[in-house]
Amino acid sequence: MKKKYSWLLFDADGTILDYHAAEIFSLESAAASFGLEISAEVLNLYREINSALWADLEKGRISSLELRVKRFDTLATRLGWDISAEKFSQAYLRELGDSGFMMPGARKMLAEIPRDIHKAIITNGIKDTQYGRLMKAGLIDIFEEIIISEETGIAKPAAGFFDYTLERIGSSQIENMLVIGDSLSSDIAGGAGYGIDTCWFNPEKLENNTSVKPTYEISDWDGLFKIL
Ligand SMILES: [Mg+2]
Repeated sequence: MKKKYSWLLFDADGTILDYHAAEIFSLESAAASFGLEISAEVLNLYREINSALWADLEKGRISSLELRVKRFDTLATRLGWDISAEKFSQAYLRELGDSGFMMPGARKMLAEIPRDIHKAIITNGIKDTQYGRLMKAGLIDIFEEIIISEETGIAKPAAGFFDYTLERIGSSQIENMLVIGDSLSSDIAGGAGYGIDTCWFNPEKLENNTSVKPTYEISDWDGLFKIL
């Protein structure tokens, strides 16, 4: 028998919002204001540095305030750039917060979800940036709650993040909830660890080499409607 979910908890980046497109656009704009260019090598190096720092943040080792500057400090050191990492970070976040790139098909999918199903965003990110991007994409009113890790001080996959989520949405009926996201380490591990069903959005059909087991796996949004 099909399960009836009354709350869909969507991750933002890589699920609803196209983080990669926004990231490239914002890095290029910030670099241009410093007279610098973002080559493919620079982009790869930045992504390597940034994802290592986000992994530290998910483990609670650094704060989002530290992360936002440290990634550019490390990048500048590695590349010999003579810049203020603080100023570069501000320029980057200003651009990022003003970009509303969405994942293909996400807007249509959101519009097709039956009206009696509640929707929330659960995202690890910086408050102003995530709000800015969701606003730019015209998504603020589509979700009943927008829950951003920086507001809670705790990031997915920590249970504390989900405690806060339940409080915000005003429901503790986790059996009626579904976490939907592209990250096994934050969305799926977080939801599963908390006892919430999970749906791994895996458009690139990556192999799951982890011990994290999603309840469902989909590679496109049609897959979600087969679950609901
Ligand atoms: Mg994501």
